[in-house]
Amino acid sequence: MTDLLVLGSGGAGLSTAVRARDAGLSVTVLTKGELGWSATRYAQGGVAAALVDEDDSPALHGSDTLAAGGGLNDADAVRVLAAEGPRRVRELIELGAHFDNVDGALAMAREGGHSVARVVHAGGDATGAEIERALTVAVRRSDAEVREGWLVTDLVVEHDRVVGVAAVDPHGEARELRARHVVIATGGAGQCFAVTTNPPLSTGDGVAMALRAGAAVADLEFMQFHPTALHHPSMPRPLLSEALRGEGAVLRDDRGTAFMAAEHALGDLAPRDVVARAITRRCNEEGVDHLWLDASGIENFRVRFPTIWRACESVGLDPTRDWLPVAPAAHYLCGGVCTDLDGATTIRGLWACGEAACTGVHGANRLASNSLLENLVFAARVVEAITRGKDAPEPTGVLRGFALDAPLESVAVARVLAGSAPVRETLQRVMTRDAGVVRSAESLGRAAIALDAMAPGTVEDANLLAVSRALVRAATARRESRGTHTRTDHPEASSDFLGRFVFAGGAEPSFVPLFAGAGRAV
Ligand SMILES: Cc1cc2nc3c(=O)[nH]c(=O)nc-3n(C[C@H](O)[C@H](O)[C@H](O)COP(=O)(O)OP(=O)(O)OC[C@H]3O[C@@H](n4cnc5c(N)ncnc54)[C@H](O)[C@@H]3O)c2cc1C
Repeated sequence: MTDLLVLGSGGAGLSTAVRARDAGLSVTVLTKGELGWSATRYAQGGVAAALVDEDDSPALHGSDTLAAGGGLNDADAVRVLAAEGPRRVRELIELGAHFDNVDGALAMAREGGHSVARVVHAGGDATGAEIERALTVAVRRSDAEVREGWLVTDLVVEHDRVVGVAAVDPHGEARELRARHVVIATGGAGQCFAVTTNPPLSTGDGVAMALRAGAAVADLEFMQFHPTALHHPSMPRPLLSEALRGEGAVLRDDRGTAFMAAEHALGDLAPRDVVARAITRRCNEEGVDHLWLDASGIENFRVRFPTIWRACESVGLDPTRDWLPVAPAAHYLCGGVCTDLDGATTIRGLWACGEAACTGVHGANRLASNSLLENLVFAARVVEAITRGKDAPEPTGVLRGFALDAPLESVAVARVLAGSAPVRETLQRVMTRDAGVVRSAESLGRAAIALDAMAPGTVEDANLLAVSRALVRAATARRESRGTHTRTDHPEASSDFLGRFVFAGGAEPSFVPLFAGAGRAV
């Protein structure tokens, strides 16, 4: 029996696999596509870490992360992320990842919400592709077993412990694999929405499996919307990084008016959620489905932003001349499977890291470029914990205040392994319209009724449906606006909601108040 089954081959899964092999564990990676197929490889901006001492420190990175998170971060998880991040980035460089340099030193970019320039990048705006490349090479070099084209469908739980997974192999056969430990690293769920920057694989599979198995899952209402995805029928939507606005690009409405100065003191560089709401409101007022980004003033566009240049060129747009059509797109799931500070979930033998996890690092809103770092930091902690023999979750991080010895309740769901997927388009439309950038009790009620009437066609549709239903229930219960979650009927944040909506085996979430001091500054 293998020591470790790693589900997924993005930055989180591959980091876990490489480290686990280095630690002498036997490892099998199961991934539903090819090895390098992931959201990780689309990441543009970079990895945030306090790598130089002069004007930066882990404490400053931590306080920027807390400022973005709307009071719901777990301060210990943030401290771990910021303190261990620099070491993990250096280790990635030693492993073979090449980051951009200036005069022999790492080039650092500054992104929205960061007090200083601390974001390292590769290939200009192709950071994720370089990380995925380096990790893929390292996994191939290690003798980890890699099974591509394996769709994991469910966790196998016996006597309150995860002992393996059910999967469909590349020939369409149902299979069961056993392991001492299973790590969910299956990424996010942007495909719940019609407009998303996430690739088609981001169907929330690991989160849905955890929901079915009765593991604690939280913060699903906090889906971060990126304000400026290129408005084009291609999926996933190419991202027009906020670095463009950092270089002087300006948002314009349908009449050509630059409107952000009237919305926020930081104008076009206002926080992501502010910009996404402003665009959505203007679109609704003007009856249009996109606005415009005028990047014609950026010098050297093609050299500074080669990936974005190619994306624009491929749809016949010349950014030096044309205004670029933009609309908000579902981008990053802040919540997921709840873990302690070592990535242990509420079920023994089950671990989670990366976008599928809720470590508490992001709270109600992710600080730009913290997610690639979270992959590296928490993958390492999972492996270290397993190696030292940890076998049960502890009341640390997000799991503080949880009843960890309560018996499990699993939710029975039909497993449908084949079928066409017209349901997906309907689901995505409903979610974008009624549970998207702005929500209300009325729109969420409509979404809940529509989702409850849907029957899934495929495994991934069933997962999208499970995550969407839970997201809508949590968003309905959170009668306030905080971070990425905006309720038009409750426009302010409320101290009544300083805590998490947690699913643990039932269809409705329970509210777990934030442990006293959990959101305090580090
Ligand atoms: C366009 C874009 C730009 C971004 N830019 C940045 C950035 O600049 N900085 C930053 O920090 N973050 C960025 N992010 C976010 C970041 O890329 C992701 O959050 C992160 O890479 C997630 O890594 P992961 O390993 O958790 O998941 P993923 O990289 O999505 O990998 C998930 C893996 O799981 C596999 N999988 C899923 N379900 C199953 C299943 N049922 N069975 C088997 N395998 C399965 C998938 O095939 C995939 O290999 C960006 C995201 C996007 C989409």
